[in-house]
Amino acid sequence: MTSIVVLGSTNMDLVAYVAKAPARGETVTGREFRTVPGGKGANQAVAAARAGADVSMIGAVGADEFGSRLRAALEHSGVDTDLLRTSEGPSGTAHIVVDDEGGNAIVVVPGANATVTSLDHGDEALIATADALLLQLELPLSAVTAGAVTARGLGVRTVLTPAPAQPLPNELLAATDLLVPNEHEAATLTGLADPHAAAEALLRKVPEVVVTLGAAGSLYAARGAKPLVVPAPRVRAVDTTAAGDTFVGALAVALGEGRPVPQALAWASAAAALSVQRPGASSSMPYRTEIDTAFD
Ligand code: ATP
Repeated sequence: MTSIVVLGSTNMDLVAYVAKAPARGETVTGREFRTVPGGKGANQAVAAARAGADVSMIGAVGADEFGSRLRAALEHSGVDTDLLRTSEGPSGTAHIVVDDEGGNAIVVVPGANATVTSLDHGDEALIATADALLLQLELPLSAVTAGAVTARGLGVRTVLTPAPAQPLPNELLAATDLLVPNEHEAATLTGLADPHAAAEALLRKVPEVVVTLGAAGSLYAARGAKPLVVPAPRVRAVDTTAAGDTFVGALAVALGEGRPVPQALAWASAAAALSVQRPGASSSMPYRTEIDTAFD
């Protein structure tokens, strides 16, 4: 079984559905409210676990009710949370307003995530057992960089999703094996709007890049190889939330199993296409048997 460690965020998503989002100073009445376990780290962990890997999560939840629910949600999908700390203070929260046109406005309050500034006792030994370490940018950069550098030193593949988009320290890029930005993040990192040009520029910093292109699929580029565009299955999308996290989780599993890159990308695309056809974030993520059936 592929073994994956995720060093990343857990957030409770607090989602209010409204006809029209309020302007500054305005109060509007919403239609519905939901609390949904999320955070890019937790979402990637759930995606990889459902895709068939042995997954452990490093990060932190708060000492509150959300924290217990976030931990339980991970465990429910089979993610090991032994090294997920419980820090004093609140859990991370994402305050999301979704309007009737599907647009959204989001405030993320990092809470417990902000307390993860470095690796803790036991983290290195866990990372040493992994085939891949998955990283995103919702934890302090000091911890993300420490994780990548540690994994690199142990010969463990590092997979970085550079979201939310921000400039990356050279030390982190130098310890990244596979960078997986979406089009917007690729443009932010390079100043180049064209994903092909952006991928080529990123190859000066990391050996392998996958730029995800939404419904248009994904673009794989590696040093010294011809770029490869993998189309996404044509499906009716109802909710693309966490499509990127589903894609990365499944891709890491397929690569960990030693599948050739084109096949791994197609399998990850099948997983992401399943997730966009259902509402929800981690709740919409497919299980391995569903991915295999869609892939055949
Ligand atoms: P999110 O922020 O919603 O998690 P993202 O912006 O990080 O997503 P995208 O590039 O939108 O990432 O999507 C990731 C992958 O999901 C794509 O490469 C593709 O394989 C799949 N995908 C996304 N949207 C669709 C769609 N409408 N139809 C089929 N596949 C899709």
